Amino acid sequence: MVIKTDFLIIGSGIAGLSLALKAATLGTVAIITKKEQAESNTNYAQGGVAAVIAPDDSFDFHIDDTLKAGAGLCHRDAVELLVYEGPKRVRELIDWGVEFTYKKQANKSELDLGREGGHSRNRIVHARDLTGRIVEQSLLQAIKQHPNIRIFEQHIAIDLITEHHLEQKPEQNHIPLHCWGAYVLDEHQGIIMQFLAHATILATGGCGQVYLHTTNPQIATGDGVAMAYRSGAKIANLEFMQFHPTTLYHPTANSFLISEAVRGFGGILKTQAGDRFMEKYHPMKELAPRDIVARAIDAELKKSGNEFVYLDITQKNHQEIKTRFPHIYQNCLKYNIDITSQPIPVVPAAHYMCGGVVTDLQGRTTIHNLYACGEVSFTGVHGANRLASNSLLEAIVFAHKVFEDITHHVNSRSIPSFPSIPAWNDEGTFNHEEWILISHDKEEVQRLMWDYVGIVRSNLRLKRALRRINLISREIENFYKKTTVTSAILELRNLVLVAKLIVNCALFRKESRGLHFNTNYPETNDSQWRKDTVIFQKNRKLIFLTDTTFKES
Ligand SMILES: Cc1cc2nc3c(=O)[nH]c(=O)nc-3n(C[C@H](O)[C@H](O)[C@H](O)COP(=O)(O)OP(=O)(O)OC[C@H]3O[C@@H](n4cnc5c(N)ncnc54)[C@H](O)[C@@H]3O)c2cc1C
Repeated sequence: MVIKTDFLIIGSGIAGLSLALKAATLGTVAIITKKEQAESNTNYAQGGVAAVIAPDDSFDFHIDDTLKAGAGLCHRDAVELLVYEGPKRVRELIDWGVEFTYKKQANKSELDLGREGGHSRNRIVHARDLTGRIVEQSLLQAIKQHPNIRIFEQHIAIDLITEHHLEQKPEQNHIPLHCWGAYVLDEHQGIIMQFLAHATILATGGCGQVYLHTTNPQIATGDGVAMAYRSGAKIANLEFMQFHPTTLYHPTANSFLISEAVRGFGGILKTQAGDRFMEKYHPMKELAPRDIVARAIDAELKKSGNEFVYLDITQKNHQEIKTRFPHIYQNCLKYNIDITSQPIPVVPAAHYMCGGVVTDLQGRTTIHNLYACGEVSFTGVHGANRLASNSLLEAIVFAHKVFEDITHHVNSRSIPSFPSIPAWNDEGTFNHEEWILISHDKEEVQRLMWDYVGIVRSNLRLKRALRRINLISREIENFYKKTTVTSAILELRNLVLVAKLIVNCALFRKESRGLHFNTNYPETNDSQWRKDTVIFQKNRKLIFLTDTTFKES
């Protein structure tokens, strides 16, 4: 089955949905999304969107804060674009119906602006502590009214359609490559469709599920990075994975955030033996910067072999705790943890992918007619560490840049035609019953990544991880070739590929910077390593780009 559309958007988070609303003014839009339409990282964002709005704030302050967080690797032009566009894009969200929190809810004249770590001014526009959910619902509501947009739920993109798939293959090493859409599994019907489009946009989000502990929902398996890499697109800086220091540890709870505010309120981190440990790591103790707290917890866990440490606020007034943290209190109670009388078991968790599919400032990837925006993309904004609440902003700003670029193509009528594209070939595959293999492999990759490629790395750990992941990767690739595709096998295949790419990027960078800390190279080395790690696949080999021209500030 073939569906032709002007624009194919893969993913229904803030990046995909905000772009769809604009692209629909130019032509038909198909959004494919692999689960229910709202299921995305966006839906779980709590804090908000950073933007220069307060009278005492300035674009320069926001730019400086972002560059500082990025530890020397932010691309200044991308950061400037992000910051200058911020207020306009926030205004657009409001026009689409997003109900942000105001200082006085009655007259809605002044947005309530929060402050988060690393921001020198109050600039976090938020909708209580449920910003992502409110944004997601409002955008979906706006999309419902649009006759040009169709959403296909439970449709998972398998691979991008490029020269590699054509019946008449062009000469080897054809450059530049083009994208004409994607092969997509319709899970309801169990069939593989072709979605053909004049422009294809990856808005598939991050890859937190590569790690055992993550704040990301199940959908975050790095599919966009994996598909783009397999197609030959350039990928960058995957070694920079941001970990949140404190999420609830519980066998049946998806790690939910225990906000930094709990430490701000007086929460004390303790080992399972009851010893306070943060004073050994930083004079600010529990209030040290996020990456330092995460590293300290990791060090204590590695030393003790335990699975979690405790965050204890039981010494504070019980009523005050309930009033200040009603959401956390209620959530923990669900797991029989009364935070007024019991310490909270916590563990750091993978939170945000700073690298991704390389794009220029218009969201164009290195493959023609293929764009990327949101967490899947690498625009140069985050450098070696993301400033809090810059990611929702990046998603809406760069979705808008993609819109500008496709508008230009539509206006100049430079619309590509479709070559002859073969149907999906599943000859020789059969329904495999050994699903247990998949769950074991997934868990093994997640555990390897957590133990060896987590917050603190070393050459020994990274090499061990790579050896094992290579082995699992070969097994999975064989399994994939013989098996009728399902979302489980597709996600596992992507997850292990992204894991492999992360380890390779981490081994390549011989220094410590931002979120990447390697005990063999504990120092930052600006003279040799102030550059991006850019990779791509050619003739099935992983290639590192040696000249990663850095856009100096
Ligand atoms: C708990 C939590 C709190 C956060 N808090 C904040 C915050 O306060 N401020 C901030 O700026 N950022 C925050 N972030 C980060 C931010 O939420 C994300 O970076 C952002 O939402 C990403 O948006 P996106 O549209 O790029 O991707 P997502 O919102 O993740 O959407 C990706 C979409 O792609 C779909 N998809 C993926 N693969 C496929 C495939 N193969 N086929 C079809 N569909 C596919 C998914 O189903 C999903 O619909 C937080 C993240 C988490 C997890």
